[in-house]
Amino acid sequence: MARVTARTSDIEKAAGVLRAGGLVALPTETVYGLGANAEDPAAVARIFQVKGRPPSHPLIVHIGGGEYLDDWVKDVPATARLLAEHFWPGPLTLVLRRGRRVPLEATGGLETVAVRVPAHPVALALLAAFGGGVTAPSANRFGQVSPTTTNDVRAELGDAVDFVLDGGPCTVGVESTIVDVTGDAPSILRPGGVTREELEAVLGRPLAVPSTTRVRVPGQHPSHYAPRARVVLVEPEKVVAEAERAQDLGHRVGVFLPPSMAGAPVKAHAVVSVPPSMGDYARRLYGFLRELDQRGCDLIVASLPVEEGLGLAIANRLRLAAGPRATV
Ligand code: AMP
Ligand code: MG
Repeated sequence: MARVTARTSDIEKAAGVLRAGGLVALPTETVYGLGANAEDPAAVARIFQVKGRPPSHPLIVHIGGGEYLDDWVKDVPATARLLAEHFWPGPLTLVLRRGRRVPLEATGGLETVAVRVPAHPVALALLAAFGGGVTAPSANRFGQVSPTTTNDVRAELGDAVDFVLDGGPCTVGVESTIVDVTGDAPSILRPGGVTREELEAVLGRPLAVPSTTRVRVPGQHPSHYAPRARVVLVEPEKVVAEAERAQDLGHRVGVFLPPSMAGAPVKAHAVVSVPPSMGDYARRLYGFLRELDQRGCDLIVASLPVEEGLGLAIANRLRLAAGPRATV
């Protein structure tokens, strides 16, 4: 079990940093966030600077409980209340109409805002001590692998963050599911820690799936969640042959060995064994990508899991990690 209690003095210190306009890396159950006072436009602007994130990419506002939702948004439809009741605190983000407390800096200029209540005792303690909303993207440089431990945060951001609040390793390991509830029918903008099946069971209706998840043609989405090594996706039964082919061509190949190939010998630079449980895989996905980078791989060969349950979010992240890189 992850360490779930930060010292009270650390919580107080982090809340003080937020009040003073600083940036705090905070644990959530999904990934570590880079947090600022959501109502302080200058602090919010620093998040974009530190991440190297384009200012048009909106952030998620984290609040301490569903009872505060109406302070941050307006026109909350019944569907949003139903989802909030079922899944908060938890890895579900709702996109609603922006309330006046939320500056346009936090929404990338949009009149909608993304809000969630994280299910991590340290995040909730910080939100309670601070008393306001904390806007936070993942605590990594733009486009790169999200951090799931404080070591990852420090490797990504170093001294650029004013305080790192430790809450142990993240227990979900992939980002929240984002559901847009501003239209006639709710739709998933990003698959994540709450599964499509769980949402559909509560809503009693099917949900649209985002195009990054459906698209099977490679090269249509710029990379995100990406390690330094290039990521190549093949069918599970072709992973070993493709890895060995690339290794023979002189690459330092890292392999995501699928559960169906467990124990198969593979001639490669580094191998990680993909766990059969999707919960375990989600928890370890970003750690695996970081590990293969650290071991000096320049190419990672992986396959997509079945896109059910958490497999949908994992496949989405792997596809985006394999997307084309921006040229410099
Ligand atoms: P990250 O910053 O990496 O945790 O990602 C935050 C996610 O929330 C991004 O995928 C954003 O595009 C999404 N997001 C935040 N606000 C909105 C919004 N108002 N409408 C749609 N997506 C949003
Ligand atoms: Mg991110």
